[in-house]
Amino acid sequence: MAPTGSVLSMGSSIQVLVIGGGPAGLAAAIALRLKGLTVEVLEGKTWPRDRVCGEGIMPTGWACLESLGVTDYLGPEDCSPFEGIRYWDDDGRTARGVFPAGLGMGVRRQALSRALHERARELGVVLTDHARVKTITIQAEGVRVVSRAGAHEGEVCVFAAGRNTGLLEQLSLRPGRPFKRRRFGARQHFRCSRWSDDVEVWWSKGMEAYVTPSGDGRVEIALLWDQTNEPAELQSPEPFKALMSRFPGLARRLDGKESDSRFQGTGPLAWQALGPWPDRVLLIGDSLGYGDGITGEGLSVSFDQAMLLADELPQRITCGELDQQALQPIRQGLIETFHSTLPTLRAALILARWPFLRRLAIRALSRSPQLFRHFLAANMGVRPLWRFPLGGLLWAAIGLVVPARKEIKP
Ligand SMILES: Cc1cc2nc3c(=O)[nH]c(=O)nc-3n(C[C@H](O)[C@H](O)[C@H](O)COP(=O)(O)OP(=O)(O)OC[C@H]3O[C@@H](n4cnc5c(N)ncnc54)[C@H](O)[C@@H]3O)c2cc1C
Repeated sequence: MAPTGSVLSMGSSIQVLVIGGGPAGLAAAIALRLKGLTVEVLEGKTWPRDRVCGEGIMPTGWACLESLGVTDYLGPEDCSPFEGIRYWDDDGRTARGVFPAGLGMGVRRQALSRALHERARELGVVLTDHARVKTITIQAEGVRVVSRAGAHEGEVCVFAAGRNTGLLEQLSLRPGRPFKRRRFGARQHFRCSRWSDDVEVWWSKGMEAYVTPSGDGRVEIALLWDQTNEPAELQSPEPFKALMSRFPGLARRLDGKESDSRFQGTGPLAWQALGPWPDRVLLIGDSLGYGDGITGEGLSVSFDQAMLLADELPQRITCGELDQQALQPIRQGLIETFHSTLPTLRAALILARWPFLRRLAIRALSRSPQLFRHFLAANMGVRPLWRFPLGGLLWAAIGLVVPARKEIKP
């Protein structure tokens, strides 16, 4: 049921126009539709959508997908649970942190897109593909959008088109960066049984490899690096194979395994939209901002933002309060959700940049799973970063002096 009192002033039956049918846009559409709003999603391409991503969803993000009814559309062929994160340093030392509650989920990106799309369709969200948006006009009585599929109108626009600087400029927003460093990422899938209950992070000089189980008999390897260490291997005819020489243990694991996707890259990663948001417009997901793949929370942040929108927006629409000032508390909440992930992200980026510090951190964490779990909890937004567990700090200090024994990489 649409909330009573909602006036569709432009003769449109759509209350919320969502621009961008990625995970953020579709999750928002589902969450708002579950609150009774009429929603249309405009996607420039078509579903299911694939894109470069580490594919690890944090327990909090998976819980959002469960409450939205999306997980019913995902099966073991495309999903693999994981218990925590394991770091492997290039000197053979390892540290493991288990999530404080729940399991993470590695989900093949196309399958996630398909599941979100099917759930949205089942709920009656209007789904328009091949609708690349060209112009957005904010009017006193609503939002008018022109896409390749035609003209669309709504009372509010949820902007979830990823890093689309052209459209953001139309909204008088400008691009900025939460971090100075320009980092890049790439990924490829392989047909291969998983060998760990965790997402593994393999560190090497100038590059990290993330191993995520991503459905039965499939693992995904995502790579991240800094622009100042641009790998020469990218010019090789077989870049992924060439890059694996930096991770001999992984290369052995993948030797002879059939690839299950094309090697694809993207970047720079860090980005945020700056400036006052116009009336009737709310930004979520990567459109609002993105830090880095190193801590793997981009999807979970998008899903949290979708839930926040669904909690706050219906009432504003009912009251017809959609100017910048009335939407400010929602805007604040969406920005805070993104900002809350930045401290742990910043700490992880320091480790990526300074091998000496990373070595110390992994020595410390090798003795202190409690401290590692604390960082995971902080990254998921369920515990403030500064509330360090004292026992965990003590064990970490012991680990600095007497680290756990080195292990042979799997
Ligand atoms: C290397 C790497 C590793 C990552 N690893 C992880 C991880 O392990 N875990 C995690 O949670 N996150 C990870 N992320 C982040 C995650 O992929 C993003 O945060 C997430 O995709 C954001 O979703 P979104 O819907 O905001 O944007 P997108 O997925 O980019 O979707 C935007 C959508 O908008 C559409 N669009 C664009 N322009 C228009 C237009 N003009 N008109 C209509 N539609 C338009 C696009 O076609 C697209 O479908 C990683 C990212 C990278 C780059």
